[in-house]
Amino acid sequence: MSPQWIVIGVLIALVYFIFIKKKPLSSERKTKKNDTLSGDDMVECKKCGTYITLDDALLKEGHYFCSNECLKA
Ligand SMILES: [Zn+2]
Repeated sequence: MSPQWIVIGVLIALVYFIFIKKKPLSSERKTKKNDTLSGDDMVECKKCGTYITLDDALLKEGHYFCSNECLKA
């Protein structure tokens, strides 16, 4: 294997992981306890459907919201 192919392989792996991370959480993942999720996990706003990181999400009654407007609405 030449070094170029190793670089290309790493790039493909990086792109792959970036897209996997952006995928919506599966239903089985949602049923897990919140403390199993890290701050980098994406959650869906219950109101508008926007995906936000867990760090930015607002949690109310078991649902995540992207902002105070969505939380109040
Ligand atoms: Zn929202």
